[in-house]
Amino acid sequence: MNAASRVRLKPHYALGLGVLLLCGGVTQAGPHVHGAAELMLAAEGNKIEIILNVPAMSVVGFESQVVSAAQQQAVSDADALLRNPDQLFSLRGGQCVLEDTQVDFSAITDVALDAEEDHHTDDEHADHEQPAHEEAVVDEDHSDISVQYHFNCDNSAALEQLRFGPDGLPFGLEQINIMWVSESGQGGAEVSINRPYVDF
Ligand SMILES: [Zn+2]
Repeated sequence: MNAASRVRLKPHYALGLGVLLLCGGVTQAGPHVHGAAELMLAAEGNKIEIILNVPAMSVVGFESQVVSAAQQQAVSDADALLRNPDQLFSLRGGQCVLEDTQVDFSAITDVALDAEEDHHTDDEHADHEQPAHEEAVVDEDHSDISVQYHFNCDNSAALEQLRFGPDGLPFGLEQINIMWVSESGQGGAEVSINRPYVDF
């Protein structure tokens, strides 16, 4: 009985995020466009979840694996900025407070750094290299930074607007494609330098 009622409670919320994650997966399938990012927003009850995918080129200036101290510093700086979304965007309406942030730099930091690499055997290196040769010939030079923001809101249905700024679009981006889903529907919008906000 317990399991059954849990299953009944979950689907709506799971569907919203599932749709967003699916959209994210689909749109990430091809090479991204430098200068353009994607933002997915799901609002339900007292929660708003936002997933932001930005080309690493726009965030840190490279999309290869981190190899130098300067690149590591760029990642650290970007991480600090991304964890402070007040500097990137604001939500109007709903009385939302940031509860949790997850920043994923694995696309450019997944390969072991020097210190770790010493522990790898030759076999492990071979394992790493094989997939790269077999697939992703087109995509291997493209890497996204992905960030998830979890907001707690008094009422997510009262969300009126997401606005980027205070200095226009972050990271010198020219365009951000927004997809959103809420209890009352779903939609999409393109925000640009000239119109750095979306009304819900
Ligand atoms: Zn790229």
